[in-house]
Amino acid sequence: MSESLGDAPRKLGLDAWDQRYAALRQAGLSEPEYGGPLGRHVFERGDLRLRHLEFDNSAAALRLWNFLLTENERLRQARTRGEKIVGTMKDLGTVPVMAYALPRVRAFYPDGAWWTPCLMECSDGLLQQADLQGIDGSFCPVRALLPAFETEAHFPQPDWLVCSTGAVCDDFTAIAQRLERLGHPICWWEMPRRRSPDPGEPACTLPGGGLAPAVQVQWVRDELERVRAGLSGLVGQPLTDEQLRDGIREANRVRRLLGALREAAHGAPSAPLPALELLVAEMLTLHFCSDRDETVAVLAELLVEVQTRCAQGHAVLAANAVRVYWVNPVADLRVLNRLEEWGGRVCGSDYMFTHALDLIPETLPPLEALARTALADPMVGPTADRAERIVAECRAWGAEALVVARIPGASHCAREGAIIREEVRAKVGLPTIDLEIPPVCDAMLPTLDSRLQALLEAARARRST
Ligand code: SF4
Repeated sequence: MSESLGDAPRKLGLDAWDQRYAALRQAGLSEPEYGGPLGRHVFERGDLRLRHLEFDNSAAALRLWNFLLTENERLRQARTRGEKIVGTMKDLGTVPVMAYALPRVRAFYPDGAWWTPCLMECSDGLLQQADLQGIDGSFCPVRALLPAFETEAHFPQPDWLVCSTGAVCDDFTAIAQRLERLGHPICWWEMPRRRSPDPGEPACTLPGGGLAPAVQVQWVRDELERVRAGLSGLVGQPLTDEQLRDGIREANRVRRLLGALREAAHGAPSAPLPALELLVAEMLTLHFCSDRDETVAVLAELLVEVQTRCAQGHAVLAANAVRVYWVNPVADLRVLNRLEEWGGRVCGSDYMFTHALDLIPETLPPLEALARTALADPMVGPTADRAERIVAECRAWGAEALVVARIPGASHCAREGAIIREEVRAKVGLPTIDLEIPPVCDAMLPTLDSRLQALLEAARARRST
């Protein structure tokens, strides 16, 4: 669409995007129901952070952002239509596949409230309310979900809540327990900490290529059987294997599109899409942003845009941008813009949910396939496993530097950054940094900027050696 209007790929601030939006509409842009100018998200819902971000100028990116930023409205509309809403917590990518296998059911992650204070520049007061509820800044920003349940100002109350526990971070378990004590019943299912199979022990291959003991896979399968019973009870009809198989095929459709997008974007000699849009695209795989069919359409359009740009030799960033592998999501999205401003580009990423990107096996019994997918979660096994995959992707995509983003207060990451950086330095020899990024990073920008600049400079210096 952007090419047909004669506009080369580039990034635009919010005001410029709204001017472009008017031009696109005049030129005949047709949009889904949730479409509209990006600027409205600031004054209608208070997503103030958007004023400080730069966005890709394609119509495909406009649709992506509008889809992301209208999720709560779309969930409320689904509720009005009488659809069931499942709040699924912590597993990131497995239970939603089951929920969407049922008709008239939508699943979303209340964990996503994590982003609300970041997008609203803390004007929503969620973190302050969490403080008053005794969940203070020693917890990660996911604590925002607790007051979000109480105020109901963000997402609608789910009809059913399900949460994985066991090998998950202490922050989340503590917050979810508090939620239950406040009167929100939760179906808990247990995720064991993944371990390597002992010599001679029966083992299963996981999506992504790892191994887990068969006994652990069986355990998770039994736990997911309980989740299946809960979902069946919610809708008053059994969730069958046939429905689950269809649900897995549809989830894989999304994952294949995302896989093709990542390959095209990361593999291109010059970046055809900025890092922010790539991050949002990855996030769609978690629970399809509450609309699985629309996720397919959004990703398909984005993929066509990227393929077209690549075929025409167009890029959104300079050809000599330093290729950076990025680990963990950023609380303040502005930092990804800054990386690009200083001459970097993201050419690979592990945003803590790589198991939601890998294809789910389609030839296994469906709950067995989903159990293996859940066990492939990078956050339920040793950090060394995660580091191994990061090293392999750094090599595959020719990364020249690595950034580990740290999340303030997060209990999962006391040592992971150091382990990942050591592995990447030892095996690929890349310069690495870790950055702690708060929900609003303005006060730290000078420090963050100089650290990013130093990293990119070190990477450029290696080119000439
Ligand atoms: S501590 Fe880490 S894993 Fe746990 S909820 Fe926060 S960001 Fe997620």
